[in-house]
Amino acid sequence: MAKEKSPAGPLPVRPHHGMCLAFFRGSGYSSRFVSGMSEVLSRLLADPETVIRLTCGADRICSACPENLDGVCLDHTKSGTYDGRVLALTQLSYGQELTFAEFAARVTDRILNPGLRADVCSDCRWDGICSGAASNYDFLER
Ligand code: SF4
Repeated sequence: MAKEKSPAGPLPVRPHHGMCLAFFRGSGYSSRFVSGMSEVLSRLLADPETVIRLTCGADRICSACPENLDGVCLDHTKSGTYDGRVLALTQLSYGQELTFAEFAARVTDRILNPGLRADVCSDCRWDGICSGAASNYDFLER
């Protein structure tokens, strides 16, 4: 897990966004959200060695989301539950720093490949997009 950190520091990422990023296809809460999500995903896929920090608060993706009210998710109960499930299944914890490649591999190996995606977020409004879709992480070299 050792990689030189960028001067800006690790990129904060909510744990369940490891699921959203895996299946993002350009749909979202608003055009601003889609643009922000696209930017984050492109950055991480272009440089999977980017160091991230797992955070329980709003992250870069939330910053462009209309559901984000002063740093608190309007659906914080559900999003927090998803975060907790991802952490439990990947055996990671809040505050942990690792590369995006390592995080994506954990999500793939411990949630997606064993068929546990629906156990995390099947009641999400975007479930129809993610269900049965190929993961964006399939393009990452392992
Ligand atoms: S504010 Fe909530 S709904 Fe919006 S991206 Fe963040 S966790 Fe998801």
